[in-house]
Amino acid sequence: MLDLSHVVMNGRPHSPFVELGRENGYIENENLTDSELIMIVYLNGEFLEKENALISVEDRAFLFADGVYEVIRCYGGRPFRLEEHLRRLDESIRAVRIDLSDSRPIGEVAKRLIVENGLTKGDALIYIEITRGSAPRVHIFPPKGTKPTVYVGVVEFHPKHSQMENGISVILVPDIRWTRCDVKVVGLLPNVLMAQRALDEGADDAIFVRDGVAIEGTASNVFGVFGGVVVTHPKTNLTLAGVTRDVVLELCIKLGLPTREAPIMESQLSEAEELFLTSTTMEITPVVEVDGRAVGGGKPGPITRRIQKEFRELVRSSRD
Ligand code: PLP
Repeated sequence: MLDLSHVVMNGRPHSPFVELGRENGYIENENLTDSELIMIVYLNGEFLEKENALISVEDRAFLFADGVYEVIRCYGGRPFRLEEHLRRLDESIRAVRIDLSDSRPIGEVAKRLIVENGLTKGDALIYIEITRGSAPRVHIFPPKGTKPTVYVGVVEFHPKHSQMENGISVILVPDIRWTRCDVKVVGLLPNVLMAQRALDEGADDAIFVRDGVAIEGTASNVFGVFGGVVVTHPKTNLTLAGVTRDVVLELCIKLGLPTREAPIMESQLSEAEELFLTSTTMEITPVVEVDGRAVGGGKPGPITRRIQKEFRELVRSSRD
């Protein structure tokens, strides 16, 4: 159980909200970036200045990538689909058998960090990481009672508006990941390598292909429109069950657009009327080029636009 009642700030009991942050005048230069600001983060029961939040070199995530994470978007300071993200976090924790019985208070920690860091107005991201804790390096689980490491941080976020507006190019890459891609683990090396490969080859992102199927992006789900039907890969062990993916499927129902959860073959991509990626940070980003070939006439399609518009409205209404 994560008990927040004892939370301390830099070793002192933490009384309501810290003096730091844009909103209470401590920071005079509004143009400072997050990296120049004194950011407050949460680590293992304490609210700390980020530079004082230190993790052991024996942390299991450092040694084995033995941890899970979540990324949550805030619009105007309000976390979007917080419950869904926390539920997925809980599922990840249980899937990898980290001994943390109750992750629910993390939502309250995150909301508090938004306020304390003066991020109540614009776009922000919440990053949560839970690891199996710190212990001498042996592969088996650490001794019972080893406390998991719990970290929550927030950053100002700058969405890639031009990509959402004009679309992106992707390359197809082999899916060299493990077969539990449904668990949001911090071991993202294949994703890192393939995102970088895309950049090196002059594209914006990459889509993983496994056994001829376009599985998902390096940090997003893939949707295609075929004969007017909006298609995305089913929720299996090979994809992350994206929160944005679920929102898009809901919006399609609302808009009366037919949907189908089925694999999209690599060979079908060139026939797609429209293609787009979805994620917490990319929202709904059109794909207009795959491996150098134009998709859907090389520009974002009408169905993608309708879903984008509906998504913006949903975000606006959930802020009211
Ligand atoms: N697939 C992968 C591999 C991801 O890393 C992400 C998000 O980071 C997604 C899909 C999209 O998930 P969500 O919409 O919950 O951000």
